[in-house]
Amino acid sequence: SAQTSIQLNDGRSIPQVGLGVWQASNEQAALAVRTALEAGYRHVDTAAIYDNEKGVGEGLRASGVKREEVFITTKLWNNAQGGDSTLKAFDQSLERLGLDYVDLYLIHWPAPRKGLYVESWKALKRLKEEGRARSIGVSNFTAEHLDRIIGETGIVPVLNQIELHPRFQQKALREAHARHNIVTQSWSPLGQGQLLSDPVIGQLAARHKRTPAQVVIRWHIDSGLVVIPKSVTPARIKENLDVFSFRLDAEDMAQIEKLDSANGRIGPDPMTATF
Ligand code: NAD
Repeated sequence: SAQTSIQLNDGRSIPQVGLGVWQASNEQAALAVRTALEAGYRHVDTAAIYDNEKGVGEGLRASGVKREEVFITTKLWNNAQGGDSTLKAFDQSLERLGLDYVDLYLIHWPAPRKGLYVESWKALKRLKEEGRARSIGVSNFTAEHLDRIIGETGIVPVLNQIELHPRFQQKALREAHARHNIVTQSWSPLGQGQLLSDPVIGQLAARHKRTPAQVVIRWHIDSGLVVIPKSVTPARIKENLDVFSFRLDAEDMAQIEKLDSANGRIGPDPMTATF
């Protein structure tokens, strides 16, 4: 399959489709990662809070795919934000993964009431300088949080991983990203599965002789987004990557565009999340 990559603002690049592993156990993650890499995935998204970094590392080694060919992301959990505590949490993530670097390290949530995301960002800058995080970015940041870290450090995150799917398209934040040359990465890209029973998506799937999941993943790709659908089911893992031999046309894209809704958010709002 002719997988696509997206250029990052630090000169590196990221495969446009990756495997998400939220809510997978270590055992499930190990099998899912191995299955995905054998099927041709070269990008995996985990986090310290998912409690499955060990499984991700095991799956990577079991696959036989070379470490340098795979893009691995993990994330700093909120309770470890700060200077020294970020560095310590990063070391622990590497240890669990069994790796000596990650391709991307993200601040998982801004947690604005803690007031520590700038200090945490400075620690990520250091990890990048040390080469142990090849690229650094953020997740769930608003435009205001982005302006603040960029203003205080001069370092622009390579990407912001945010909730994004046809029912919650995040157009304003994507424009802010474009102004800073920040890539947008979509979490819960399938709306945690809720999008798959949408009648508009169903019609498009029938017309293209594809599954609803493939249509939604293709919408992310054709929108220039990086997308990390989650599954631990081998057939679905393969299906979700088999999206490079068809395209949505302008009319298809316009129909999906109309599914956008101001109250389409499924997950927490970064401004009010209490964790
Ligand atoms: P998702 O939108 O990827 O949906 C996953 C669910 O959709 C699966 O559990 C399964 O039930 C269903 N599904 C997947 N493929 C399917 C297929 N081909 N056919 C039928 N059903 C299918 O949801 P998600 O897991 O919430 O998001 C994806 C990834 O994004 C996560 O695993 C995680 O890596 C990341 N994420 C990050 C954050 C963050 O705060 N940064 C938050 C949520 C998720």
